[in-house]
Amino acid sequence: MTFQDIDLSNPLRNAIDDLGFENPTPIQEQAFPIVRSGKDVVGIAQTGTGKTFAYMLPILRDLKFSKQLTPRVLILVPTRELVVQVVEEIEKLAKYITLRVLGVYGGVNLNRHKQAVAEGCDILVATPGRLYDLGVSRVLKLKSIQKLVIDEVDVMLDLGFRFQILNIFDLLPERRQNVMFSATMTEDVAALIDDFFVAPKKIAIAVSGT
Ligand code: ADP
Ligand code: MG
Repeated sequence: MTFQDIDLSNPLRNAIDDLGFENPTPIQEQAFPIVRSGKDVVGIAQTGTGKTFAYMLPILRDLKFSKQLTPRVLILVPTRELVVQVVEEIEKLAKYITLRVLGVYGGVNLNRHKQAVAEGCDILVATPGRLYDLGVSRVLKLKSIQKLVIDEVDVMLDLGFRFQILNIFDLLPERRQNVMFSATMTEDVAALIDDFFVAPKKIAIAVSGT
């Protein structure tokens, strides 16, 4: 399969051409139609399999231009390094799309992030701790979130973020799509899925050679 076989928009196609990517990875190929369908999704695949684009391609495919200030897509990742990395990947992919992407994480003055949030964004990438702080401060309104992505959820739970994740769920509208990606299916991950996901579609990419 090539990127030509995926129903991308021209701005996405051009951005992928600029990156020099020729073929979607297996998780990207499988996730695209399922994430696009709006159903809850759980994807399990090892590090380095291209999970960021697996959820970002279908999300960017359908995200329409808007002037509204409150974010419509929320991406949770466990660490500040990952926030920075995911924001960079989105910016590369959204090179020809008018979109506001904001990354927030701990270690930066909270007031700075409150101000950034008040300026408005379409896609918010956050660590659970900083998002929780912004959410409880009520500066950040999460009622417009249509899609929640939890990336590296296994790491997030290992770091002890279950409390923050559950409290963030409370701030989100009930009608939303949940997308979760993990390198491993641990007991904690399975418990979170059981509690909060509605009939999720599961995608698992086997580790080659095992
Ligand atoms: P994961 O989250 O599964 O660890 P990433 O999404 O971080 O993987 O992707 C790993 C690397 O592969 C990144 O540098 C990314 O730009 C690159 N990549 C992603 N998709 C493709 C593709 N279809 N073809 C070539 N490289 C890709
Ligand atoms: Mg990743």
